[in-house]
Amino acid sequence: MLHERPPLAPRAERIARLNAAIQGRSGADLSLAALKAALDPALGGRVALVSSFGADSVVLLDMVAQLNPSLPVLFIDTELLFPETLQYQCEVAAHLGLRDIRVIRAPRAELLEHDADGLLYHFDPDACCALRKVAPLARALAGFDGWITGRKRYQAGTRADMPVFEEDEADRIKINPLALWQPGEAARHVSARNLPRHPLLDRGYRSIGCAPCTTPVREGEDERAGRWRGRGKIECGLHSPAHTDGQGEAA
Ligand code: SF4
Repeated sequence: MLHERPPLAPRAERIARLNAAIQGRSGADLSLAALKAALDPALGGRVALVSSFGADSVVLLDMVAQLNPSLPVLFIDTELLFPETLQYQCEVAAHLGLRDIRVIRAPRAELLEHDADGLLYHFDPDACCALRKVAPLARALAGFDGWITGRKRYQAGTRADMPVFEEDEADRIKINPLALWQPGEAARHVSARNLPRHPLLDRGYRSIGCAPCTTPVREGEDERAGRWRGRGKIECGLHSPAHTDGQGEAA
């Protein structure tokens, strides 16, 4: 017989308690404390990590593996990812012993209806992201009370004031344990923990998304400069207010 879950306290109250748990902390210590608090069922409820298995993703995956390797990890496979990312996803999951990787894809019928030739990214990248990322993740997040992302404030002006714990439009708590991390901190953490590195890092890629929309960055460029280069697009839509009614990571 299934046991009913006790009702969660109001979201604002839980966010206040989550913020109290990270008071006075910084760096990796803050991130781990944020995750620990969020994984407390009384505070975070049912939580998933949304991961792109991109450049820095292994940092959060490693922390989650230390706390609860059975936590659901949602991986959006747009079917336009680099083969290296797919290979890396398997390598990291095995290395860390992650037990619940859920691969999320757009339904075949929807792809055939809206992007039969697979070139929508070229003509309308916002529609492509909505089809291949935003809508699939919205469906996958149904039933979760919170989701963990790997976003950092320094990555974009749109993220400059991002809190560690925030609300979304779907009555979920969004958890950003790396919000306050500075450039280079993730790479140092990966080295110190001897974690597997994404193979494209050695080829000049610094932020890694879908193959058609990602290029290497040059010396001195912003790490996300290679995403949608020349297209005037900076976010995939997973984190814009209009789409926070149910989706995920650090794309
Ligand atoms: S990043 Fe590019 S290819 Fe990937 S879903 Fe968005 S527009 Fe499509």
